[in-house]
Amino acid sequence: MWSHPKDFHALQQELKAGKQRFTDLVQHYLEQIQQQNNAINAFIEVWEEEALQKAAFYDEHPEDLPPLAGLILGIKDNLCYKGHKVTAASKILEGYEAVYTATALQRLIDKGAIILGRLNCDEFAMGSANLYSYYGPTRHPLDLTRVPGGSSGGSAAAVAAGMVTAALGSDTGGSIRQPAAFCGVIGFKPTYGRISRYGLIAYASSFDQIGPITLSVRDAALLYQAMAGKDPMDNTSVNQPVEPWETIQWQQPPKVAYFKEILEDPALHPQIKNAMEKLIENLKNKGIVVEGVAFPYLEYVVPTYYVLTTAEASSNLARYDGVRYGFRAQAQDIEELYVKTRSQGFGKEVKRRILLGTFVLSTGYYDAYYAHAQKVRRLMKNYTEELFKQYDFIVSPTTPTPAFRANERPDPVAMYLNDIYTVFANLTGIPAISIPFQERVERLPIAHQWMAPWFKEAQLFSFIKHYL
Ligand code: GLN
Repeated sequence: MWSHPKDFHALQQELKAGKQRFTDLVQHYLEQIQQQNNAINAFIEVWEEEALQKAAFYDEHPEDLPPLAGLILGIKDNLCYKGHKVTAASKILEGYEAVYTATALQRLIDKGAIILGRLNCDEFAMGSANLYSYYGPTRHPLDLTRVPGGSSGGSAAAVAAGMVTAALGSDTGGSIRQPAAFCGVIGFKPTYGRISRYGLIAYASSFDQIGPITLSVRDAALLYQAMAGKDPMDNTSVNQPVEPWETIQWQQPPKVAYFKEILEDPALHPQIKNAMEKLIENLKNKGIVVEGVAFPYLEYVVPTYYVLTTAEASSNLARYDGVRYGFRAQAQDIEELYVKTRSQGFGKEVKRRILLGTFVLSTGYYDAYYAHAQKVRRLMKNYTEELFKQYDFIVSPTTPTPAFRANERPDPVAMYLNDIYTVFANLTGIPAISIPFQERVERLPIAHQWMAPWFKEAQLFSFIKHYL
């Protein structure tokens, strides 16, 4: 009945024309989940009844459909949805129910989106392979022996496998873009402050952003626009007009930079390098100036990112003490309660990061690590500001390799290096989108990433429409 993949835009045409019923669409996704989820493990929980009820309501009231009716959405398990369970894929939040709804999610619901369920991810969004979940790993839809990427691996896998129209993820260092790249779908991280973080379970607050994972760039733009804008509940959300992108005209072709060090990076898979070179040639043939620029920070991005994010995480995760949320260990006194709850409730990777973060913030090491990393972050921001005086966009591969096998990154540093091309956008706060290449490596998707100046999302979407 419903052939897939169809992006929201295409589905909506059919729904509005009355060719299909909303209930059938939700049923279609439920069937897909039933057939595929055992193997892929993308959904942690499906809210079937609610979704069907809302679909039935739309079928009965076709005269007055809200703008996002027909958007059947999955949400990463770190977004609060009032009255629904949310755990950040951690044992420590087992049984916890959200007491309010994330602003970004509420804005989509208000415009008619149907929320189908919550999606697997790395515990507290820490990871690049979706291997660190209390609910077990999510698997790559095209090859079950491989990882879908992380930490929003459930979101990317669900979209790629056709279990939802689109999904929400969160991106602290690449967790939307990297799994989107591995799974062959679109992943978009807006400018820091564009979308409210209210109701997003915090990992590293000065990096975290909510964003969409979709089947088309058009859908990514649509969801972004629906979620963006100032929120009084999040003081870091920014009051900047969200411009329409469809009407932007280009007087002259934009100028694009790429980082020479990334194209020369020995870790970059030769076929991804090839695809990048072809892309750059094609752009040049369209009259776009594309120039290689020096990027002196490549070896510093990952260390800087991990010093700062673990510091913020150690502070953010201090609230899980067994008293206020979710899981509580058996204990005789309060000291034992804290120790046992946190020892039993957090997984290995989360503990590693809390320890690392506590270390870099401790007296005696603060200046050497945390303060130093803040300075490097500032230098990167300054460098980026200068660069965007000369160029409109930066292009790079999203990841050094296609999806790897579950056992191929056994040591943590090798795992951290998967984010080497994505963390830059989070360190500087600029918007970035991952788009699949036409080429694949064997059967596996690979992707390119486009970064724009702060708050130039509309220009980025318009550029993609006109030039890619
Ligand atoms: N893989 C990175 C990390 O583990 C990014 C995570 C994210 O963006 N949430 O921190």
